[in-house]
Amino acid sequence: MFDISERMKKLPPYLFAEIDKKRKKLIAEGKEVISFGVGDPDLPTPERIVNAMRKAVGDPSVHRYPFGKGRADFRKAIADYYKKYSSVSLDPETEICVLIGSKEGIAHFPLAFINPGDVTLVPEPGYPVYQIGTILAGGIPYFMPLKEENDFLPDFGKIPDDVLSKAKILYLNYPNNPTGACADDEFLKDAVKFCKKHNLILLYDAAYHEMYFEGKRPVSFLSIPGAKDIGIEIHSLSKTYNMTGWRIGWACGNEKLVSALATLKENIDSGTFEAIQIAGVECLTGNQEDVVEMRKIYQERRDVLIEGLKKLKFRVKIPVATFYLWLNVGGDSLAFADKLLSEAHIIVTPGIGFGPSGEGYVRFALTIDKNMIKKAIERMENVLK
Ligand SMILES: *Cc1c(COP(=O)(O)O)cnc(C)c1O
Repeated sequence: MFDISERMKKLPPYLFAEIDKKRKKLIAEGKEVISFGVGDPDLPTPERIVNAMRKAVGDPSVHRYPFGKGRADFRKAIADYYKKYSSVSLDPETEICVLIGSKEGIAHFPLAFINPGDVTLVPEPGYPVYQIGTILAGGIPYFMPLKEENDFLPDFGKIPDDVLSKAKILYLNYPNNPTGACADDEFLKDAVKFCKKHNLILLYDAAYHEMYFEGKRPVSFLSIPGAKDIGIEIHSLSKTYNMTGWRIGWACGNEKLVSALATLKENIDSGTFEAIQIAGVECLTGNQEDVVEMRKIYQERRDVLIEGLKKLKFRVKIPVATFYLWLNVGGDSLAFADKLLSEAHIIVTPGIGFGPSGEGYVRFALTIDKNMIKKAIERMENVLK
């Protein structure tokens, strides 16, 4: 009775059930658990944005179905943001669609373009939703390993011809979760060329575009010549403005790709609450001092963690963006994470959970205070000696 569907059965298993059980047990015992686990900002949404939302929510005109590709003022703010920071021109009418968080758009997108049996090219280690969206649409993910020796960029030359002939979507995500790597101009140009040659859609996940260190803003995918011919970029306010709970993002780029996604969404969700979109206008058009401050805080945390890990004799690759540190622990990532949890009450995410090429690594999310990071280092010193 109530047998779940075949497509549900195909979803990847949840690997961290054991770790979760142990974590809950430790917390129930009153232990202080330090979590580098989930990539969910600990800092509050900036006050200016909360205030914009407070004000907006009182206006009854926003209480109705939002519909369409999103509010005109928010789409204009998005177009202006691309123009100002990335010199990219977007038509707010046809080339931008507001999302209920970027995860929603990423998960739904394949439903608009994938037929059963079609292949998608998915980076691994990677954000699980590329693979999940593909499977739910009846497609077949083909995994492209991201290796440290290739700066965590996929090697398109290694994809077999018979896979390429069935492939329809290429997923890329830079700045990258979980590795913290960025893509340069050259690579992105190659990616656009590759997609044109093989008739692929490029879905570019830019969730961490604003989370960079040392003042080095990452290249915007849409600023690459020809990107708009084949690509759609998915962006989010979640990480930049500490708004993971608000659920707001957008898709932009190729008109045909954007409009198919918008049509699909119209048939599923009827859009993003307009008061949140009004807060989104404030995000992009207000004073960005808070974002500058946020980058400083994450960079400080990153440096505290790096210094500590180096003292513990780890070989640390310094992340240039995102709020993750991808640490090579040289062996069984589940065993390493389990040891840290059992003996030091520290949570890190085992790399294997992001794909087979993640084995040998664990991911630290820098979403805890620097004093807690120092405390975690002291505990690690005791158990890893
Ligand atoms: C956090 C994250 C997202 C999702 O962000 P939402 O807009 O909150 O859905 C998308 N992609 C990657 C790689 C992420 O890490």
